Amino acid sequence: MGDDKDYYSVLGCEKDASTEQIKKQYKKLALQLHPDKSTSDTGADFNLLSKAASTLTDEREKHKYDTSLLEKRATCNKIVNDEVNCDDFSHDEETQSYLFDCRCGGQFVLGKDEFTSIAKSQLVDCNSCSLSILVISSR
Ligand SMILES: [Zn+2]
Repeated sequence: MGDDKDYYSVLGCEKDASTEQIKKQYKKLALQLHPDKSTSDTGADFNLLSKAASTLTDEREKHKYDTSLLEKRATCNKIVNDEVNCDDFSHDEETQSYLFDCRCGGQFVLGKDEFTSIAKSQLVDCNSCSLSILVISSR
Protein backbone atom coordinates (compact mmCIF):
# COMPACT_ATOMS: atom_id res chain seq x y z
CA MET A 1 0.00 0.00 0.00
CA GLY A 2 1.15 3.53 0.60
CA ASP A 3 0.06 4.96 -2.70
CA ASP A 4 -3.30 6.61 -2.49
CA LYS A 5 -4.32 6.07 -6.06
CA ASP A 6 -7.99 6.77 -6.35
CA TYR A 7 -10.31 4.44 -8.17
CA TYR A 8 -10.56 6.75 -11.15
CA SER A 9 -6.85 6.75 -11.77
CA VAL A 10 -6.77 2.99 -11.22
CA LEU A 11 -9.24 2.72 -14.07
CA GLY A 12 -7.70 5.51 -16.08
CA CYS A 13 -11.02 7.33 -16.18
CA GLU A 14 -12.05 10.89 -15.74
CA LYS A 15 -14.14 11.74 -12.70
CA ASP A 16 -17.14 12.31 -14.90
CA ALA A 17 -16.77 9.08 -16.85
CA SER A 18 -20.03 7.29 -17.57
CA THR A 19 -20.77 3.81 -16.25
CA GLU A 20 -20.31 2.56 -19.80
CA GLN A 21 -16.86 4.10 -20.06
CA ILE A 22 -15.88 2.68 -16.68
CA LYS A 23 -17.00 -0.81 -17.68
CA LYS A 24 -15.12 -0.53 -20.95
CA GLN A 25 -11.94 0.57 -19.20
CA TYR A 26 -12.33 -2.21 -16.69
CA LYS A 27 -12.61 -4.84 -19.41
CA LYS A 28 -9.60 -3.47 -21.20
CA LEU A 29 -7.42 -3.33 -18.10
CA ALA A 30 -8.71 -6.59 -16.65
CA LEU A 31 -7.45 -8.38 -19.72
CA GLN A 32 -4.00 -6.98 -19.13
CA LEU A 33 -3.95 -7.61 -15.41
CA HIS A 34 -5.84 -10.85 -15.04
CA PRO A 35 -3.79 -13.24 -12.87
CA ASP A 36 -4.52 -16.14 -15.20
CA LYS A 37 -3.12 -14.32 -18.17
CA SER A 38 -0.35 -12.33 -16.67
CA THR A 39 3.06 -13.73 -15.94
CA SER A 40 4.07 -11.10 -13.44
CA ASP A 41 2.66 -10.58 -10.00
CA THR A 42 -0.31 -8.42 -10.81
CA GLY A 43 -2.83 -10.05 -8.49
CA ALA A 44 -2.99 -7.09 -6.16
CA ASP A 45 -3.48 -4.69 -9.03
CA PHE A 46 -6.22 -6.88 -10.40
CA ASN A 47 -8.02 -6.94 -7.07
CA LEU A 48 -7.79 -3.19 -6.81
CA LEU A 49 -9.07 -2.82 -10.34
CA SER A 50 -12.04 -5.09 -9.62
CA LYS A 51 -12.84 -3.19 -6.46
CA ALA A 52 -12.59 0.13 -8.29
CA ALA A 53 -14.87 -1.04 -11.08
CA SER A 54 -17.50 -2.57 -8.80
CA THR A 55 -17.60 0.58 -6.70
CA LEU A 56 -17.78 3.05 -9.55
CA THR A 57 -20.40 1.15 -11.53
CA ASP A 58 -22.74 0.99 -8.55
CA GLU A 59 -24.56 4.28 -8.31
CA ARG A 60 -24.91 4.29 -4.56
CA GLU A 61 -21.38 3.07 -3.90
CA LYS A 62 -20.00 5.55 -6.40
CA HIS A 63 -21.76 8.41 -4.68
CA LYS A 64 -20.38 7.29 -1.34
CA TYR A 65 -16.92 6.99 -2.79
CA ASP A 66 -17.05 10.40 -4.48
CA THR A 67 -18.08 11.98 -1.21
CA SER A 68 -15.25 10.37 0.71
CA LEU A 69 -12.83 11.46 -2.00
CA LEU A 70 -13.97 15.06 -1.67
CA GLU A 71 -13.59 14.96 2.09
CA LYS A 72 -10.15 13.49 1.75
CA ARG A 73 -9.12 16.16 -0.69
CA ALA A 74 -10.50 18.91 1.53
CA THR A 75 -8.33 17.80 4.42
CA CYS A 76 -5.24 17.48 2.20
CA ASN A 77 -5.78 20.91 0.77
CA LYS A 78 -3.39 23.61 1.64
CA ILE A 79 -4.61 26.24 3.97
CA VAL A 80 -4.94 29.48 2.13
CA ASN A 81 -3.59 32.11 4.43
CA ASP A 82 -4.57 35.18 2.54
CA GLU A 83 -6.15 36.56 -0.54
CA VAL A 84 -4.11 39.05 -2.45
CA ASN A 85 -5.18 41.13 -5.40
CA CYS A 86 -2.77 40.70 -8.28
CA ASP A 87 -2.41 44.47 -8.45
CA ASP A 88 -0.59 44.26 -5.14
CA PHE A 89 2.20 42.24 -6.69
CA SER A 90 5.24 44.20 -7.66
CA HIS A 91 6.86 43.68 -11.01
CA ASP A 92 10.48 42.70 -11.03
CA GLU A 93 12.05 44.08 -14.20
CA GLU A 94 15.16 41.98 -13.92
CA THR A 95 13.53 38.56 -13.74
CA GLN A 96 10.31 39.58 -15.49
CA SER A 97 8.37 38.06 -12.63
CA TYR A 98 5.82 39.32 -10.17
CA LEU A 99 6.52 39.32 -6.47
CA PHE A 100 4.66 39.66 -3.23
CA ASP A 101 6.40 39.70 0.12
CA CYS A 102 5.53 37.01 2.62
CA ARG A 103 5.51 37.70 6.30
CA CYS A 104 8.32 35.18 6.75
CA GLY A 105 10.66 37.29 4.66
CA GLY A 106 10.29 35.04 1.64
CA GLN A 107 8.29 35.84 -1.42
CA PHE A 108 5.41 34.65 -3.48
CA VAL A 109 6.68 34.55 -7.02
CA LEU A 110 4.71 34.36 -10.22
CA GLY A 111 6.34 34.18 -13.62
CA LYS A 112 5.19 36.65 -16.23
CA ASP A 113 3.23 34.01 -18.13
CA GLU A 114 1.67 32.64 -14.97
CA PHE A 115 0.77 36.13 -13.86
CA THR A 116 -0.85 37.16 -17.10
CA SER A 117 -2.73 33.89 -17.46
CA ILE A 118 -4.55 34.00 -14.12
CA ALA A 119 -8.15 33.64 -15.17
CA LYS A 120 -9.81 34.34 -11.87
CA SER A 121 -7.58 33.31 -9.05
CA GLN A 122 -4.52 31.19 -8.48
CA LEU A 123 -2.92 29.56 -5.49
CA VAL A 124 0.71 30.55 -5.01
CA ASP A 125 3.15 29.05 -2.52
CA CYS A 126 5.73 31.04 -0.63
CA ASN A 127 9.26 30.24 -1.76
CA SER A 128 10.56 29.82 1.76
CA CYS A 129 7.74 28.80 4.09
CA SER A 130 4.57 26.73 3.84
CA LEU A 131 2.15 29.61 3.45
CA SER A 132 -0.03 29.90 0.41
CA ILE A 133 -1.99 32.82 -0.89
CA LEU A 134 -4.81 33.07 -3.33
CA VAL A 135 -4.04 35.63 -5.95
CA ILE A 136 -7.17 37.26 -7.29
CA SER A 137 -7.19 38.62 -10.79
CA SER A 138 -8.50 42.14 -11.13
CA ARG A 139 -9.48 41.64 -14.73
ZN1 LIG B 1 6.68 32.65 3.64
